[in-house]
Amino acid sequence: MAVPKRKTSPSKRGMRRSHDSISADAYQECPNCGELKRPHNLCTACGHYNGREIVSVEG
Ligand SMILES: [Zn+2]
Repeated sequence: MAVPKRKTSPSKRGMRRSHDSISADAYQECPNCGELKRPHNLCTACGHYNGREIVSVEG
């Protein structure tokens, strides 16, 4: 079995983990219904995108 030759230094460990932090999800209000939606995504509440209805929402 392959085994690391040396213990990972705190510096190298920190470099590896520099990309591990998670950022908050981006959200913006739907211009049609005001519901929060992900940018560049269809509004799940009203089915609108870019000013027009893409998917009809029943109910
Ligand atoms: Zn909407």
